[in-house]
Amino acid sequence: MTTQKCVAIIGAGSSGLAAIKQCLEEGLIPVCFEQEGVTGGLWRYTEVTKENPNPHSSIYKSTIINTSKEMMCFSDFPIPATWPTYLPNQLIAHYFDLYAANFDLTRHIRLRRRVLRCSQLGDKRWLVRNVSTQNPDAQPEDEVFDYLMVCSGHHTKPRWPKPAFEGTDVFQGGQRHSHFYRVILFGKTLDHVIVRWVTFFPYFLITILSALTMVVIYGPLRGPLKPRHGFFSAHVTINSDLMGKIETGRIIVKPNIKRFLKGKGVEFEDGSIEEGIDLVYYCTGYHIEFPFLEREILNDGRDDVDLEYNEYENIAFIGLVQPLGAIMPISEIQSRYALSLWLGRLGAPPTILDMNAAIDRTRRHLQRTYVRSPRHTIQVFYHAYMDMLADDLGCKPTLFRLGREFEWNWRLIWSVYNGPQTPCQYRLLGEQKWAGAKRAVEEYSGYKWEGKYGDEKNGFWFSRMPEINKKDQ
Ligand SMILES: Cc1cc2nc3c(=O)[nH]c(=O)nc-3n(C[C@H](O)[C@H](O)[C@H](O)COP(=O)(O)OP(=O)(O)OC[C@H]3O[C@@H](n4cnc5c(N)ncnc54)[C@H](O)[C@@H]3O)c2cc1C
Repeated sequence: MTTQKCVAIIGAGSSGLAAIKQCLEEGLIPVCFEQEGVTGGLWRYTEVTKENPNPHSSIYKSTIINTSKEMMCFSDFPIPATWPTYLPNQLIAHYFDLYAANFDLTRHIRLRRRVLRCSQLGDKRWLVRNVSTQNPDAQPEDEVFDYLMVCSGHHTKPRWPKPAFEGTDVFQGGQRHSHFYRVILFGKTLDHVIVRWVTFFPYFLITILSALTMVVIYGPLRGPLKPRHGFFSAHVTINSDLMGKIETGRIIVKPNIKRFLKGKGVEFEDGSIEEGIDLVYYCTGYHIEFPFLEREILNDGRDDVDLEYNEYENIAFIGLVQPLGAIMPISEIQSRYALSLWLGRLGAPPTILDMNAAIDRTRRHLQRTYVRSPRHTIQVFYHAYMDMLADDLGCKPTLFRLGREFEWNWRLIWSVYNGPQTPCQYRLLGEQKWAGAKRAVEEYSGYKWEGKYGDEKNGFWFSRMPEINKKDQ
C-alpha cells in the first residue's frame, strides 16, 4: 500500500501544469482533470463553432501576450533567449507543451474529464466527482484525494453589464462579449522597467514616476481617455500600439454608452450619436466562478474570495490573482507555497485569527489602492507578491544571501537588481534551487554566456535542462 499522498488538480492550463510539476518534485501523486482534449488552457486557441459554441479559451487568433518572456516563464524552465520578447499565443502553447514534455507531466493528466463536484469527507479528504466530456452517456466517477488544487482559471465566464443598457432589446446591430472575439492584435508592455531596485521606492513615488513617464511619451491624456482615478488605481490596459492608432484616427474613443437606439444607432454619455454600428463588443470582464465547489466553500457569484480557512486547509486556489505582471510564475510559486505549507516546511499553519487578520489587511489595501469594482478583488503587484511568498519559502534573493552563496559575483548581483525580475531569480537560493538559474538570470539581463552547455544552434539553450536537473538531485 502506497503512503504517498494524492493531489487532485482541476485544470491543465499553465497553473495546472505548474501544480503537477511541483507535486512530482515533492513526491506526491498528482491526478489532473482537464475537461478539454488538450492542455494549455486559455492559451490554446479554439474556434467558436456550432459543436463548441462556448470554448474555455477566450484568446483571439492573433493574441500576443503582453507580459515578456523573461517575466512569464516558469522559474526552472526559461524561455529560449532567442524567442521573441512578446510571444504569440501559438508559441506560448508550444512552450507549455515543451514544459510538460520536459518534466513528463502529461501522463498525470486525464484529458476530457470534467470535475462536477468536490466535497469534503469526514476525514477532511476530498471526494472528487468527475465525468467524461466525450461520452454523453458516461456515468460520473468518484475518487478520493488528500489535497485539492483548483487551477480552473478565471477568464472564461463572461460578465455582461448589469443592468443592461437601455435599448439593448431594440438595437439591431450584433452584441457580443469579448470572450468570443477571435481576431485582434494584443499589445506589449515595458515590464522590465520595474527592476528590483525600483521596488525599494515607496509606492506613491513609483506611481508618480510611472504617470510622468506616460505623460512624457504620450502627452497628457484628454477627453474620454483621461481616467477619473489615479495612476495604478485600476488594472492597467497595456498596449503600445493603441495610442498610435488613436492618434491616427483608426480608433475613435467614446465615453460610455448611454442607450441603444432603434436600428443601429448608439447614443453616448456626452450626447453624441453614432449610426450604423454593426457590432458591439462588451469588454466587461469575467465572473470568478467555481461551479464544482459547494456554496459554503467559496462565496458563490461574488467576486471576492471568502474562504472558511479553518475548515478547508487542504485546498489551494492556484492562479486566482489578477496581477500587474504575468500569472504563470505566480501560479508556480503559489504551488510551491501550498505544498510547502501542507508538508509542514513553513512551520505550523497560521491560526484562524492570523488568517482573518491577513484577509482584512488585504481587503483594506485593495479598497485603499483601487477603484471599487469587481475586477479589483484579486489584484496583486507581481513584484511585491512574488517576493512576499519567496521570503517565506526561503528563496527571496537578498544581497547578503546572494553574496554568500555566489561568492559576491557582481555580475549576478547586478543582474538580479537591475535586470528583469524574472522568476528564475527564485531558483537561485533555498531548498528548491536550480543550477541553471544563474545563467538564465544573467542572460535575461543581457549577459552572453559562452556555450558551457546547451544547444545554441537551435536557440533551445534550455533543451539540456533535464540533465541539469538530474545533476541537481
Ligand atoms: C485575452 C486575454 C489575454 C491575457 N493576457 C495575459 C498576459 O499577457 N499575461 C498573463 O500572465 N496573463 C494573461 N491573461 C490571463 C490568463 O488567464 C493567464 O495567462 C493563464 O491562462 C491562466 O492560466 P490558468 O491555468 O490559471 O487558467 P486557464 O488557462 O484558464 O486554464 C484552466 C483550465 O482548467 C480547465 N477546467 C476548468 N474547469 C474545469 C473542470 N470543472 N473540470 C476540468 N477542467 C476544468 C479548463 O478547461 C482549462 O484548461 C490573459 C487572459 C485573456 C482572456
